Amino acid sequence: MIFENATIITMNPRREILTHGAIVVAEKEIVDIGKSKEIIEKYPEKQRINCNGNVILPGLVDTHVHTAQAMIRGCADDLGLLDWLFKRVWVLQGSYTYEDGRASAALCALEMIKSGTTSMLECMLAERYGFDGVAEVMIQSGMRAAIGKIVMDLPSYGKSENQMFPGMVEDGETSIQNTLIAFDKWNGAADGRIQVWFGPRTPGGVTPELYDRISQLARERGMGITIHNSEVIEDQDYAHSEGCRSAVDFAGLHGLLGPRSVLAHCVWTDEEDWKVLAQTGTHVSNNPASNAKTATGIAPIHGMLQAGVNVTIGCDGGPSNNTYDLIRDMRLVSYVANLREGDPTVVPAESVLEMATLNGAKALGWEDITGSLEVGKRADFIVINMDAPHLTPAWDPVSTIVYAAHGSDVDTVVIDGQIVMQGRKVLVLDEKAILEEVNRRYRQVAKRAGLKLGSRWPTI
Ligand SMILES: [Zn+2]
Repeated sequence: MIFENATIITMNPRREILTHGAIVVAEKEIVDIGKSKEIIEKYPEKQRINCNGNVILPGLVDTHVHTAQAMIRGCADDLGLLDWLFKRVWVLQGSYTYEDGRASAALCALEMIKSGTTSMLECMLAERYGFDGVAEVMIQSGMRAAIGKIVMDLPSYGKSENQMFPGMVEDGETSIQNTLIAFDKWNGAADGRIQVWFGPRTPGGVTPELYDRISQLARERGMGITIHNSEVIEDQDYAHSEGCRSAVDFAGLHGLLGPRSVLAHCVWTDEEDWKVLAQTGTHVSNNPASNAKTATGIAPIHGMLQAGVNVTIGCDGGPSNNTYDLIRDMRLVSYVANLREGDPTVVPAESVLEMATLNGAKALGWEDITGSLEVGKRADFIVINMDAPHLTPAWDPVSTIVYAAHGSDVDTVVIDGQIVMQGRKVLVLDEKAILEEVNRRYRQVAKRAGLKLGSRWPTI
């Protein structure tokens, strides 16, 4: 199959942008890439898809996702983090059934595909969401998914006095064993599109001894670990109480850093931490929309990038963002980082697009497979429809997409050589059925949770 007549942002080592370009896909791979005219002459027999002068770029990689939170989007707007968590998010999530977890993951996958995300890292998939159902949905969606299964043995959060909602509590032994069972069953499934990771809770939810066990088991199996770190300033208080200089140091002490680790947030980190993150090859997921919404701070990504840390982008969850549209978040990555430094030049559009593609692929251990458009890599790419007022004129396709595009500008999505969306119609999931099911289920979850949610204004 040939995708012809496109402006191709290759993200190759020379960062070439190809005008009037074409990509040749055979089976799952990119087998050729070049000028449309030459490609068509070279492969006259191949089926052609006309991209109408639109932009092709690598599929985006979201490195911090909570699939179970798609169905509770907007459930805790304008609340402080502890009320947000203790009174809404955990109460609702703790009332889920396996079927709710599956329906929410389907909604999440649908939204990610429709906004150009082709690979994702799930963090903290709890027992009650049903691992198997979520893995099945991700396989059906055609996406690449690293799924971090929750591990925990304490029902608290940091040094907070509040206790976790009972429906969310798991014991250490079960959560470890079920992660290993899920790993044996699903890791490498769908021709390698599925990975199973450890997704332990933050300090306060896991004893230091259990962290040691997680890191040892992960090393033995080559498993990834993803964990929230330094999201809130209280993480530092916890680290200090454990005799560590910082939350990053605490993670290092318990084997949670390294090239198979992704730390989400890293807002409250300093120069010493960045050195450690860079030296250990630990990846960082920057979540600017979530951090801004919960007012937890601005991650110092300029400093991290300067120190050589691999910084990537995450949307986080439905109650903290409130979307899984990575394109919408790309501009925020640049805006808030520049605002923090008081300098509009430090995190430019090119850096943001690298974070959303190449850096994300590297964090998930898929840098040889995805993240750029090069011969030999898997065909993971998206076509952005540039025929729109808000994308006109487009002097520079990179900055136009980073600063002006929306997820809904994505027209076509190809993952592993499979067209999963074309003309905005998702071909692998039943969009209508998923929306109907979610609309039915979210009210039932709120009812079971004993919560009445709705507008704060009189609704008549
Ligand atoms: Zn999160």
